[in-house]
Amino acid sequence: MNEFVESRVRLTWPDRLRSEYDVVILGGGGHGLATAYYLATRHGIRDVAVIERGYIGSGNSGRNTTVIRANYGVPEAIRFYQRSLELFQGLEEETGRWIMHKEKGLLWIAHTEMGLRAERARAALNHAYGAETVFIGPDEINEICPQIDLAGGGRYPVMGASYHPRGATARHDRVVWALAEGAMQNGVEVHQNTTVTGLKVSGDRVTGVKTERGDISAGVVMMALGGQVTMVASMAGLRLPIRSHPLQAFVTNHYQPGLDAIVASTELLFYASQTARGEILIGAEIDRQPSYSYRSSYGFLSSCAGRALALLPFLADLRVLRQWAGICDMTPDYSPVMGPTGREGLLVTTGWGTWGFKAIPAGGEAMAQLIATGEMPELIAPFGLDRFARDLPLSDRGSAGTQ
Ligand SMILES: Cc1cc2nc3c(=O)[nH]c(=O)nc-3n(C[C@H](O)[C@H](O)[C@H](O)COP(=O)(O)OP(=O)(O)OC[C@H]3O[C@@H](n4cnc5c(N)ncnc54)[C@H](O)[C@@H]3O)c2cc1C
Repeated sequence: MNEFVESRVRLTWPDRLRSEYDVVILGGGGHGLATAYYLATRHGIRDVAVIERGYIGSGNSGRNTTVIRANYGVPEAIRFYQRSLELFQGLEEETGRWIMHKEKGLLWIAHTEMGLRAERARAALNHAYGAETVFIGPDEINEICPQIDLAGGGRYPVMGASYHPRGATARHDRVVWALAEGAMQNGVEVHQNTTVTGLKVSGDRVTGVKTERGDISAGVVMMALGGQVTMVASMAGLRLPIRSHPLQAFVTNHYQPGLDAIVASTELLFYASQTARGEILIGAEIDRQPSYSYRSSYGFLSSCAGRALALLPFLADLRVLRQWAGICDMTPDYSPVMGPTGREGLLVTTGWGTWGFKAIPAGGEAMAQLIATGEMPELIAPFGLDRFARDLPLSDRGSAGTQ
């Protein structure tokens, strides 16, 4: 973050790390900061420290493709993401910060009979559980997004789509800064450049954390560590059902005519939207090989660009400006994990994989409620870690924008 931004956004960094807080949140990404924000603003819990090893938003919260939607594939997820979508709609007013939230509508294109059945089912299920999604045919697709080649380059004909009009984007780092500012103004301390090196454990209870700047005792410790969560959890002898996979994305130069909608194709495994600067932002599926590497690859770029061109031929006239990667915390059922860990005093919000940006407000709101009341909020009860031991996975391939 540069000086200009820091002076505009009133971020007040504490100079001293105290040895004790009521709540210590590990990770200054969207989920950690949102939890701190709602703890302070909704529950008056202000003796809170957020510990971040780099700068806030330096993990996936500042690397994502910013898509916000609620068109998920299981009722529990539809309800949860719909809550987040609604919180996002009011976040500018609530924080007083322009997060560049914009409703664009999301087209999820089908190219086969099987794809058509999946998108029809998605529309019906979304409708039943409160998310606005309709099934539409090629003519309506063409009206919403004339840039789509309905012949799909001759190989991927466009047969229909589910359309989610409330699909939106928001500027990712602005979301992080707005939440950090709101939390700080209410007394939360955010400590950047502070790496967590261990957890303080007494019996079955986690009593605090060790950092490279000293130990901290805490009533509650919450891990919001993105792709690094398994490494810190193992410090308390905890093995999480998470694998860390890189996810890559890229942007092109400016596209003048304007791509109004967000376009996704499950069969072509990519999605695209236009940024406020006019770039076309393209994302895809995770790299199959688990890794902590932030390196992006030419293999990904050429294969993803090739698939995107089949549907959006105008891309052939644009140039690739940047590509990058983040490290995603993937669960076996593609759903997040929120709540207790089985170690007293230690909570976790993880498994946000390739889909957790849109979940930041609802995830933070629910975790703050859990910390404040000690009761698991109904909205996130199905997402507990114990679902794996109880054999109640929430398989939702609709989590990723390409499934
Ligand atoms: C390329 C890409 C595209 C994506 N696109 C979308 C999208 O369009 N829509 C969507 O909803 N989601 C998307 N996602 C997923 C989304 O970005 C993440 O799920 C979300 O940002 C997770 O937030 P978080 O706060 O849990 O993790 P993070 O933002 O990763 O925050 C974790 C923080 O913990 C810190 N940390 C790690 N280890 C330590 C330690 N030992 N000590 C202290 N701090 C530590 C990190 O530095 C980091 O800042 C995308 C992700 C990527 C990578």
